[in-house]
Amino acid sequence: MDSFVFENARVLDGSSDEGEYDRHVRVSEGIIDEVSDKPIKDTNAIRIDLKGKTLMPGLIDCHVHVYSAAEDPSTSSRMPNELVALHAARIVKGMLMRGFTTIRDVGGATLGFKHALETGLIEGPRLIMCGKAFVQSGGHTDPRERGELISAETFNNQLGNVSKIVDGVDECRRAAREEIRKGGQFIKVMAGGGAAQLRMPRSWNAYSMDELRAFQEEADNAKTYVCVHAHSDESIARALACGIKSIEHCTLITPETAAIMAGKGAYSTPTISAYEAQIVEADRLGLDAGAVERLKWVRDRGPESLEIMHKAGVKICHGSDHLGFLHPYQNLEFNIRAEALPPIEVIRSTTLNAAELCLMPGKVGTIAAGAYADMIVIDGDPLKDISLLGNEGKAFQAIMKGGAFYKNELAH
Ligand SMILES: [Zn+2]
Repeated sequence: MDSFVFENARVLDGSSDEGEYDRHVRVSEGIIDEVSDKPIKDTNAIRIDLKGKTLMPGLIDCHVHVYSAAEDPSTSSRMPNELVALHAARIVKGMLMRGFTTIRDVGGATLGFKHALETGLIEGPRLIMCGKAFVQSGGHTDPRERGELISAETFNNQLGNVSKIVDGVDECRRAAREEIRKGGQFIKVMAGGGAAQLRMPRSWNAYSMDELRAFQEEADNAKTYVCVHAHSDESIARALACGIKSIEHCTLITPETAAIMAGKGAYSTPTISAYEAQIVEADRLGLDAGAVERLKWVRDRGPESLEIMHKAGVKICHGSDHLGFLHPYQNLEFNIRAEALPPIEVIRSTTLNAAELCLMPGKVGTIAAGAYADMIVIDGDPLKDISLLGNEGKAFQAIMKGGAFYKNELAH
């Protein structure tokens, strides 16, 4: 495997406010093995001059669904498994080519797919997964239409279905243990209504406190955490009261709840570009005016929720939550977050903070000795122009994962 020395780089991973200039970074055997302020002597390594360019860790997305092959969840749920898996291979390759070298799947991904990525059978980011998410009967992501008289189990073995329907403390425990047995690295629970759904409105809570506490105890036993879907302030507060540490969306959080969240050290993963993308693509998606109105309402509150959480000191992570043909909107989240957050916080959300939530601090999301050589090169300064991270990552001149280039437009 080739060794590389990146010379004269401005390194930016969020560990300082401005980054460090004139750094030299050596990559050997897929690992960053030296970061120095002096030139590194290595006659065998390929040398690449990064003067005037920014070297960042590969991006991390903490909220994706690799098996969401179709833009409509109910279509994905009904798709043949092999078709879903083939779509997924293309979806993860797309993510890698947009600069994402680590992703956290929050509902759907399976161990076989993770192995395919790890062994190089397919190309894509590093994957952390929870297996199926859990949803109560009739909850957000229950794939059954109102008129359908079919059992909850019908969709459990469908790859394209992000969740499994479980009700009651005993069933929740058994299901959590089963997903952990199958390689789940954390537990995902739908704890409230959907962003713009009518059947399960966002103001509704899901699961009893006893059920939420049962999930949390199972996570504690397996030395991991519970991640919940929650939009309303009440749903977020209930989850925090049960000890839950990872909360998705958080669109309607109040300053009071944000203060509790920060105090407990819980992580937030908003997904604002998911609403924005659906608004932009409303015609192609066949959305009616009411649905677009509801999406706009949630989208408009996104930046405000970021401000509230940032002020309170909540750790914020990058999330996107795109489905089907909407996946290329993944990097739009950076542009949107810059409406409310300082650029360095936008960067931390996809580097240091996200690495912690992916249970790989020091290994990903950082340019430091001992980390995987997952990096992107940008011609310019994202602190001055955050849109360099947007636009499907087209401004990235190089994308490296595990010491191998997947994109390289650098002269050497
Ligand atoms: Zn999601």
